[in-house]
Amino acid sequence: MTTGFLLRSWWFRAMCAAVSGRTVVRCRATQEEEDEVTEQAEQFETVIVGGGQAGLSAAYHLKRRGRPCVILDANERIGDSWRKRWSSLRLYSPARYDGLPGMPFPARRHAFPTGNEMADYLESYALRFELPVRAGVAVDGLSKEGERYLVTAGERRFEADHVVVATGVFRSPVIPSFATELDPSVRQLHSNDYRSPAQLQEGPVLVVGAAHSGADIAFEVAGEHRTLLSGTDTGQIPFRVDGRLAPVIWPVMRFVATRVLTVGTPIGRKARAKIRAHGGPLLRIKAADLAAVGVERVVAKTVGVQDGMPMFDDGQVAEVANVIWCTGFRNDFSWIQLPVVGEDGYPEQDRGVVAASPGLYFLGLLFLHSFSSMLILGAGRDAERVAKHISSRSNGRPAAQELHSTRTLKGEVHRT
Ligand SMILES: Cc1cc2nc3c(=O)[nH]c(=O)nc-3n(C[C@H](O)[C@H](O)[C@H](O)COP(=O)(O)OP(=O)(O)OC[C@H]3O[C@@H](n4cnc5c(N)ncnc54)[C@H](O)[C@@H]3O)c2cc1C
Repeated sequence: MTTGFLLRSWWFRAMCAAVSGRTVVRCRATQEEEDEVTEQAEQFETVIVGGGQAGLSAAYHLKRRGRPCVILDANERIGDSWRKRWSSLRLYSPARYDGLPGMPFPARRHAFPTGNEMADYLESYALRFELPVRAGVAVDGLSKEGERYLVTAGERRFEADHVVVATGVFRSPVIPSFATELDPSVRQLHSNDYRSPAQLQEGPVLVVGAAHSGADIAFEVAGEHRTLLSGTDTGQIPFRVDGRLAPVIWPVMRFVATRVLTVGTPIGRKARAKIRAHGGPLLRIKAADLAAVGVERVVAKTVGVQDGMPMFDDGQVAEVANVIWCTGFRNDFSWIQLPVVGEDGYPEQDRGVVAASPGLYFLGLLFLHSFSSMLILGAGRDAERVAKHISSRSNGRPAAQELHSTRTLKGEVHRT
């Protein structure tokens, strides 16, 4: 990464412009409940689909306003999105920016939690605020019946005035179609399924896709394998997330991510297009770290297969035994039977509010409103706006009980 590149990068310019581990929550529906599948839909004011940081923040803000809701989540445990990521994952954001509204992350401000610690934090967050989560409910349909929304999960039916879709952006792994032409002896996996180097076979590794996940994974596997990293350069933030100056720079980063890089600024709109197409800049593991562990950086893209081996766009072929596709994810809103998703695969929304379908909301999208929308530190702000909107639509109806604000709340996540 040259200084020249840094000066040209949108990230750098934006920076300048700005100058528990407590009880495991298991609230899966009981067998009895599952057996009791009736054709009658359960009635709710708001259904939140997805109980990650975005969905939990929405429930928190709704509860704070006395508005009832239910969260439906496909996973068995709150936080499983984080548990299913690679074992060595350490957050790039420090603990001071890893808390959700109302509950700081329980660690030193400048410590970097592991993925599992983040998962446990989300679990304890739901417990503490008694958020009404139903785990193990995979939503497969969303349509409208008159003025109300109908949410389905297999035989189960839920009706609501409002639906908040907070299913996360890292859902449907993308693997190029030519991957099927690779020699069967090549071990292939997507970053979504990568846990540790133990999954790989002996021999060189090609990591395809050089954004955040690709860089992290290449860095790890380079300890045991000759490793090539191919893909477009997505840039990198111009400081170390855990360096000496980090405590000073992080607040500036936060400001940039929430206030400067938004859909309301030209630089924000440019960054949004770039990030949605190629992924964000390198954060924790950067070019110098990769070089230090011997990762061979191939700036060419992997575009096809020749004689069973991956081929780059400069015609070179990589003789490798393993390929890890860090080629991103696509949104999957195919279960939404409403005309709200644009040709680019993203819902048409403004700060999460879908004008074309009143009562429908999205949270946690890549660059929903700002760079911070997909970060932990941005989840609360977007969720609060959506909760406010829902509350204003619900005016006049009786409110649910106030948010339980005690810091030491024990017990299970509420089941409605
Ligand atoms: C490898 C990696 C590292 C990251 N590190 C950081 C970091 O250090 N700091 C930071 O701020 N951000 C980080 N992020 C970005 C972001 O914070 C996470 O991706 C976060 O998990 C997004 O939260 P979410 O609530 O939007 O989605 P998710 O955490 O993905 O949660 C979505 C939930 O929706 C549920 N769901 C999905 N579909 C359905 C359905 N049809 N029915 C019912 N439930 C459904 C899922 O089960 C899941 O629980 C990282 C992302 C990745 C991929």
